[in-house]
Amino acid sequence: MTRPRFRRRIGWLPRVDYFTPVLDKGSQVESVVLTLDEVEAIRLADLEGLYQEEAAKRMNISRQTFGRIIDSAHKKIADAIVNGKAIRIAGGPVEFVENLREFVEGDYCVCPNCGFVKIHERGVPCRFEICPNCGSHLIREFEIKSNKRKRGE
Ligand SMILES: [Zn+2]
Ligand SMILES: [Zn+2]
Repeated sequence: MTRPRFRRRIGWLPRVDYFTPVLDKGSQVESVVLTLDEVEAIRLADLEGLYQEEAAKRMNISRQTFGRIIDSAHKKIADAIVNGKAIRIAGGPVEFVENLREFVEGDYCVCPNCGFVKIHERGVPCRFEICPNCGSHLIREFEIKSNKRKRGE
């Protein structure tokens, strides 16, 4: 069994994924690509005003990782504004979770094979849930943690 890899959790998807400056006809526009985790970091910290600590928790990543993501996002946006580039939003190692606000730590099911994450539904055993990506049975997050502890990771 491959080690589960936790992706960066996002609770929102942008409605617009391309922004471009108004330029003279025929002039070339360069663009920067913002990944979905970068946009989520900006949304949580800059727009919702969360502390990095709290925003990192929402995305299921460390504060250090969050700091790197938001720095990268700010640089790309600055580059676009200062140098007149377009911004495209695409990709990123993300997992979209609905109702993220209701997320409680430890209360979700994950795919032990590919790392897919979903909110745990009360009364539904995780092993009855099938991963939409790879068809594996899901397990509770704390089962993975305790397995890791046993292996001394
Ligand atoms: Zn579950
Ligand atoms: Zn899976």
